[in-house]
Parts: sequence; C-alpha cells; structure tokens
Amino acid sequence: MPSPTLHQSCTKIVATVGPACDSPEQLAELITAGVDVFRINTAHGEIPDHEKKVVAIRQASEQTGTPVGILLDLAGPKIRLGELFCDPLQCDVGMELTFLRDGEPTTAHEVTASYPKLIDELRPGNRVMLADGLVALEVVSVDRSRAVCRVTAAGEVRSRQGINLPGVKLSVSALQRKDIKNAIWAADHEIDFISLSFVRTAEDVYSLKSVLSAHDCEALVIAKIEKPEAMENLEEIVNVADGIMVARGDLGVEIDVAETPMAQKRIIDVCKEKIKPVIVATQMLESMHHSARPTRAEASDVANAILDGADACMLSGETAVGDHPVKAVQMMSRIMQFTEKSLRHDMSDRTITNRVHPITTAVTYAATNIAEAIGAAMIIIATKSGGTAWVKSKSRSLIPTLGVSDCPETLRRINLFWGIKPRRVSQMEHPALIRAEVCDWAKGKGYLKTGDRIVFVSGSGVTENAHNSVVVHTVE
Ligand code: PGA
Ligand code: MN
Repeated sequence: MPSPTLHQSCTKIVATVGPACDSPEQLAELITAGVDVFRINTAHGEIPDHEKKVVAIRQASEQTGTPVGILLDLAGPKIRLGELFCDPLQCDVGMELTFLRDGEPTTAHEVTASYPKLIDELRPGNRVMLADGLVALEVVSVDRSRAVCRVTAAGEVRSRQGINLPGVKLSVSALQRKDIKNAIWAADHEIDFISLSFVRTAEDVYSLKSVLSAHDCEALVIAKIEKPEAMENLEEIVNVADGIMVARGDLGVEIDVAETPMAQKRIIDVCKEKIKPVIVATQMLESMHHSARPTRAEASDVANAILDGADACMLSGETAVGDHPVKAVQMMSRIMQFTEKSLRHDMSDRTITNRVHPITTAVTYAATNIAEAIGAAMIIIATKSGGTAWVKSKSRSLIPTLGVSDCPETLRRINLFWGIKPRRVSQMEHPALIRAEVCDWAKGKGYLKTGDRIVFVSGSGVTENAHNSVVVHTVE
C-alpha cells in the first residue's frame, strides 16, 4: 500500500467513518486517497462501536505508515423527536402537531421530544424545525402539559429525527451525560481532536476542556458553530477553542440558509485572525452518496471553501454510508489540488495572538517569507508541541512542508494544519541530525535533489538556548 505523498492537497480532508468504510482495508484505501483525519460521530453507536472504529483506523494507519488523526464528535444537546405514533408521518400545511410534556403519543398528531423542559421553554410564535429544516412548525399555544404547533412548511418526519429551534434560547446544558462519558473515554484512548456540537458560548467550550484536563487529556477541542448564539459569541468561542467547525448542516436550519455562505466566510476570517484551524462541513459532495461524480455546484463549494481560507473540508455521509467513499475522497482531493494552485502566499504582517508565543509567530512567518524569496524546495518544521506548525499553516505558502517530530501525538495533530505533512523522526535533540535524516529520506523519495535549498525551522524546545531558529541549507 503506497503511503500518501507530499504531492497531495494542502487542504486537509476529514472523513466520517461509517458502515461504508469501516474495515481496516477500506480505511487504508481512504488514507491513500487523501484522508488526513477520520471523524467518529457519537450521535450514532455506543462506546464499543467507537472503540472498534479506533482499532480499525489505527490498523489502517499502521498499514499505510501514515499518522492519521482521529476526531471524536460529541453530539451535545441535540434535541430529538421520540418514537412517532405513525412513522413516517406526513405533515401538511395547516395541520396541528402537539408536543407532550410526558407520556406516550396516543394519536398520530401527538409527539414527544428528548428534552423534557422543551414545553417550558417554548413560547407562542416560536419556530420548530423538523427533518433538517424541511418541515417547519409555529407554536400556537403552550400550557403545563403540551405545546400545540401548526405546520407552516410540509414534509415527512420520522422517529428520533433532530429538532431545531431557531431563535429559542434553551437552558439545556452544553455537555450531556453521554458526552461526558464519551469525552472521558476519548481521554483514555489518545483521541486527537474532540468536537462539541451546538456550542453557544465560550463557557460551553471551557466545560469540555475542564472535563478533559481533569483526565489529563490534551486533545484539541473543536467548537462546532451551528447555533445563532455561537455566531453572536463567535470571537470569544474562537479564542478559547483549539479549532472550529463550520457545521453547515444544523447552522443552515438554525439561521436562514440564505445567510450561511456569508456566515462561513465570517467564521473562517475570525479563525484566520486567531490562528485556529477551521473545518468546513456538511453536504460538500452530497450527491456522491449515490453518484460517482459530484454536481458542478458541489465542486465549486469545495473550491470556494478553500478560497475562503478553510484548513480542512469534511465528508459526512459521503464516506460513512455512501456508495463511493474512495471516489468522494479522490474527487475532493483533486478539486483541492487544482484550487490551491491559485492561492497566493500572504507576506503581510500577521496578528500576534496569545495562542502561540510572539517570537514563534514572527520567526515562522519570516522563515516562510525566506523560503518563498529563495524558491526553496521544501520547508521543514521541527516541532515538539506543534505550535510552530500551527502558525506556518495559515500562511498558505505552496512550498511543500514537512512537520517533523518525535512525538506521535504532535504528528497526528498536524493532520489538521493546512499544507503540512507529518513525518516522524527518531530524535529531536540535534537539528543537524534531523536535517540530515529528513534530507536523506526526501532525496530517496525524489522530493529533493542535490543543490535544492531548504528552510529548516525549529520550534521552541528543539534548539538549546534559542527560542526558535531558522537555517537555510543547500542539499548535498
Ligand atoms: P453533524 O454536524 O453532522 O454532527 O450534525 C455537522 C453539521 O451540523 O453540519
Ligand atoms: Mn450538526
């Protein structure tokens, strides 16, 4: 099995694991096609199912010699319909649908929700969306035991489907009991990224971080932006999260779908400013669930996300349950590679954030500028914690870049950083040795030849007595 190469896309691919791709062989094929991070969605299955997926991903990673990352996606306070009396239920405009506080529905027009306080928090005039926004209801009246709604947009609903309440401020807590259980499990299983759904405030992100730190877990926390409140508190959320997901599936129901393209751009801009990786998710190649080729609009969507500044694009059902998981990844990777050719390295001064030490930020930008100016064949970033790689990734330089480390966790995290391929080295103490080790390997692979210039950046903690260093080297 050939391992992925430096010639693959710079924009990272996150692929959701599901029955269509969950054997080690299928996962290895997806890695070869370009997947950098696998997502396990905890909205489906229980811990033994997640565990099986992790084992299979690690096997595939071994097989391909690629340190892929794993993202565990916590479902958060998603509210769902209970069992319907009549499943599926066709909802026609004008029809009444009643939410019961407790008990079971006794007619087709009575429904229950997984959130017991729903009745207390609904007010006449609120909107309730079902079936991913297809079916819309308006609350007509509420009393102690029930909320009566009227259908304003027709469609079919099924048992246990999600309920979105755009504009309703719910008091439900950000971390459900099950999320906490899953987070603790993730902490014990060296999961690299943990995302939280339906984040509303920076506090929500803190609450997950405190569970993780109580379990000595250094996983990066990704906040999923899919609520209007999250858009209101965007800057604060991006400040505290380690990364962001533009979760367009729910966002496009919670806010007007017509607003989502500009919301995506705003979220990405804030992430750029604060040097946080950002994933654009949902329906990127939706038609490839069943078709071997995407629509023109989908191809443009992937390209436009990259032009907006996304670090990664995500596949959901396309890889989890679709008919063409490998083709979807290959297609996404090809669109990325064509689009990236028109990106331009940004030489402008960057905001110095407190996320990464200001010296690291300044040195890393300068090193990238040097590499561009001398037409370097490769940039090599030696990093202990990944911070230096983090900064480099936002510059959008197309010079092939390796993030080298002796730390497996750091290497797996680099998978979310735009334009940087992880590569393991045996030691970090002698920069000259790492340089030699990397040069020999890259020459063997044909990435470098004698006379090529490389720019070698070492992060703090690599070179003794120096915060960061930059060395320009000619390959012998
Ligand atoms: P989900 O999140 O697939 O877990 O709902 C992504 C989204 O809402 O876009
Ligand atoms: Mn969602």
